[in-house]
Amino acid sequence: RKSVWRLSTGSSELDDVLAGGLESQSITEFAGLFGCGKTQVAHQACVNLQSRENIFADEEHISEEEIENAKAVYIDTEGTFRPERIIQMAEAMGIDGNKVLDNTFVARAYNSDMQMLFAEKVEELIKDGENIKLVIVDSLTSTFRNEYTGRGKLSERQQKLGRHMSVLNKLADLHNCIVMITNQVSAKPDAFFGIQEQAIGGNIVGHAATFRFFLRKGKGDKRVAKLYDSPHLPDAEAIFRITEKGIHD
Ligand code: ADP
Ligand code: MG
Repeated sequence: RKSVWRLSTGSSELDDVLAGGLESQSITEFAGLFGCGKTQVAHQACVNLQSRENIFADEEHISEEEIENAKAVYIDTEGTFRPERIIQMAEAMGIDGNKVLDNTFVARAYNSDMQMLFAEKVEELIKDGENIKLVIVDSLTSTFRNEYTGRGKLSERQQKLGRHMSVLNKLADLHNCIVMITNQVSAKPDAFFGIQEQAIGGNIVGHAATFRFFLRKGKGDKRVAKLYDSPHLPDAEAIFRITEKGIHD
């Protein structure tokens, strides 16, 4: 069994909070309100996967050949993947945007069945020899939220989400992949804290995700990412920026 390797988020503060970057063999979640930057963080990960200096690993973690040919799968459930944004981020780093696009399989999922099927297909692609090292689901819960409305559907939704998460966990574990999910939030009244924001999906998502972040807007192009509920890292915050260039300090 290979040990973990890491991928830079683009922000050294955010990498530090993660003890060195996005980690393979785990699921990292970014939750937050519309416009807080979840999709930008996901795009940047695809770009950084194609840049050797943004991958922190040595031969015992992942071979140079695997790094050289690493591919990403981007399951897009909201129709927000933008090839031109990938190119813009790549060019800002001096790398070929078309190489990033060639090595990023984008799958547009219009409903939760398609979303789950695509996640299962990744396993087949890997078995067919595709060197997939990064799997993104952006977002995890929007299709489920649209399809399973009302309390009567909640347990069915949670069961299905649980199956989806276990497929993603298996990809991370068995194939040494980084899995990144984005998530919406809902506001819940709380006796002590007033209105509390919560990531969608309850314990099913909470227990399956290794690293959980809340993202929020700061001043101007600044964003704040707060790590919470990690089994082995302290709660911590990172501040980064989203500009034309992408995600950076
Ligand atoms: P979410 O997925 O959380 O809803 P996004 O990742 O789509 O949010 O973030 C959208 C925000 O990212 C925009 O409001 C803007 O602040 C920033 N952004 C997106 N594209 C660019 C760009 N090309 N240049 C600068 N900032 C950008
Ligand atoms: Mg988005």
